[in-house]
Amino acid sequence: MTYLEVGMVINIELTKRQDLILEIVRNEGPITGEQIADKLNLTRATLRPDLAILTMAGYLDARPRVGYFYSGKSAPQLLGDLARKKFVKDYKALPVVIKESTSVYEAVCTLFLEDVGTLYVVNDKGYLAGVVSRKDLLRAMLGKQKLEEIPVNIIMTRMPNIITCYPEDSIVEVAKKLINYQIDSLPVVKEEQDGGRAVLEVVGRVTKTTVTKAYLELASDQSI
Ligand code: ADP
Repeated sequence: MTYLEVGMVINIELTKRQDLILEIVRNEGPITGEQIADKLNLTRATLRPDLAILTMAGYLDARPRVGYFYSGKSAPQLLGDLARKKFVKDYKALPVVIKESTSVYEAVCTLFLEDVGTLYVVNDKGYLAGVVSRKDLLRAMLGKQKLEEIPVNIIMTRMPNIITCYPEDSIVEVAKKLINYQIDSLPVVKEEQDGGRAVLEVVGRVTKTTVTKAYLELASDQSI
């Protein structure tokens, strides 16, 4: 069975007639609406909504004076197209931010209290300085030093090595960075100037869960 995803509605089951239209265009395209209507013994007006749906969903392309042809796009490609229209700003969660002087002990408590896996570390001016993850904290706990006495800025991954994203990036770009850099989360940032220096303000957090949620919405019909 074929399903299609259209802007407003998602997971519409293709009707028998739409399946037939796809098959005709696949085999005989480019073909005009008139010719398709003739083949199906229908009027052009009856066919118009079906052709509109198939074109909007990306299964068919239409060119003036040429007719309809099969876009050749597979369902995964169409899914990719839709995911590229899902933006970080609509999915980001609140960032959990700590100061550079925060102790490892306090950081572990914050991780549990806030129920997150990664903390973002900011400097005195409130700009992004580093990232502390679960593994960073576990590693620090293996040492002999008292956890209350180790500030997180000794153990964090620091700027400029922090992988970030912007509110206007797509969820696909986030997914790529999480996989390529083998990390669990990205701070969402806005660039600012501080005395002629580019600095980053942390405005959100996106994680593997964020990406999974966005894709799940595409797979069910809850988003739109
Ligand atoms: P975990 O430690 O829970 O497995 P990650 O896989 O995200 O979490 O972290 C692995 C390492 O990558 C840690 O040392 C962490 O400091 C670093 N890290 C996490 N997120 C980022 C990021 N956005 N940019 C750069 N480094 C990061």
